[in-house]
Amino acid sequence: MTPAESSETVEATSLDPANWVQFREQAHAALDLVLSHVEGIRGQPVWQPPTPDALSYFTQELPTDAGDIDELLAGIRDYVVPFATGNLHPRFMGWVHGAGTPVGVIGELIAAGLDLNCGGRNHIGLAIERQVVKWMGQAFGYPACASGIFVTGSSMANFLAAIIAKTEALGVESRERGLVHADRPLLAYASSEAHSCIAQALQLSGIGSVHLRQIPVDEFRRMRGDQLERAIVADEQIGAQPFLVVGTAGTVNTGAIDPLEEIAAIAERHRLWFHVDGAIGALAMLSPKMKRNFSGLEKSDSIALDFHKWGHVPYDAGFLLVKDAEAHKRAFAQPAAYLQRSNEGLAAGDTWPCDLGVDLSRGCRALKTWLTLAAFGTHRIGASIEGNCALARYLADLVESSDQFVLKAPVALNIVCFGIRNADPETVRAVVTKLQLSGIAAPSWTTLEGESVVRCAIVNHRTTIEDIDIFWDALTQLAGEAAGK
Ligand SMILES: *Cc1c(COP(=O)(O)O)cnc(C)c1O
Repeated sequence: MTPAESSETVEATSLDPANWVQFREQAHAALDLVLSHVEGIRGQPVWQPPTPDALSYFTQELPTDAGDIDELLAGIRDYVVPFATGNLHPRFMGWVHGAGTPVGVIGELIAAGLDLNCGGRNHIGLAIERQVVKWMGQAFGYPACASGIFVTGSSMANFLAAIIAKTEALGVESRERGLVHADRPLLAYASSEAHSCIAQALQLSGIGSVHLRQIPVDEFRRMRGDQLERAIVADEQIGAQPFLVVGTAGTVNTGAIDPLEEIAAIAERHRLWFHVDGAIGALAMLSPKMKRNFSGLEKSDSIALDFHKWGHVPYDAGFLLVKDAEAHKRAFAQPAAYLQRSNEGLAAGDTWPCDLGVDLSRGCRALKTWLTLAAFGTHRIGASIEGNCALARYLADLVESSDQFVLKAPVALNIVCFGIRNADPETVRAVVTKLQLSGIAAPSWTTLEGESVVRCAIVNHRTTIEDIDIFWDALTQLAGEAAGK
């Protein structure tokens, strides 16, 4: 190949736009499409199932030839935008979903544009992540030297915490030797209301979920401290090794907050790692009024939380905070020739995020999170969380003053669970499903003590009292129709 020929081939391989002027217009239009959708969300159905056309748009052959960007963006406008999850909408109340913000969109866009790889190396992406780690340390009363890492979600954060606790309990050699060399079985503790990912974390860690003790809860669905200590003592007596207790700050079923102060004291007495699953609730610490409900959180060894839930950072943005930075690193850091560090240059830096988790290549979840926290400030985010809790109490009052419905769990945070009087489980589910299909509102359902209940998690910063009223009217009507049959 002559140099001229080879430079032709080089140019031909570029995936950048041939016409930047045209591409810029297309990109701006795409951003406008998204922003207009968010701005006009209240006028849209909460949710609608994808049409057959939309589904078949995504069953095409692998494309070999270049597509037309205008046509592809039109496809996204027609077949993607209308059929999203629904969580942007103020009357989405199913499960626990954050609602995103336009500011978060910008953070995601810029991180994608810079194509930041935040597994390691010496660049600004890592500094942004360290900034958020520092901020969270401050918010939760951890020491300044605390460690932390962004992950997909709290499922992953809880899993990483279980691995750190296991490594601390068995010693770092156990990373090589495995569990078969442990002389006593390891045991973990969580309440019977803990999220299913805690059991999964035990499964994935090799410890096995039979070694997770489910501690009974009180009438507020909080872990019973006396039962926890009794279980630990009994296990110590049979020669097992209790190593981890997971408290929940905001349970997924009802929003209950375990007695963190009491659990911290028990964990300390028995030398257990105290991890808090704060996926839903931890960010409520940003509200000065709600902070006292989480007393004891600062005594934990690690905290999992989701910025994509009450922080409204666009999915995904899970996070793990660890008090003992050395313990965090001991559990994951892996020597490798191609990951060697230096004092300066691109390979500088002592601890990289790849030393603190499972991922090597990873995007920059920190930028959209940093931008969200910086743009709103903790007071505004805290106030929106308080607002959600006030709406949940308003809804609970509607339930309690109605003879058609009955409240099924105390409302500690933002989750309201209630039954429909004289309705069998199928009817409850049918009413919820009809409401979802109507596009008016989207609650979900869960099972409490074997009973199907309507479950509303008020997580959305856009939700107003009128939205609760609109939801309530539609629900009352559908439940009435179901009862009339
Ligand atoms: C949502 C949730 C999880 C799981 O978090 P993901 O971000 O969905 O992985 C764990 N625990 C609780 C209490 C949750 O609400």
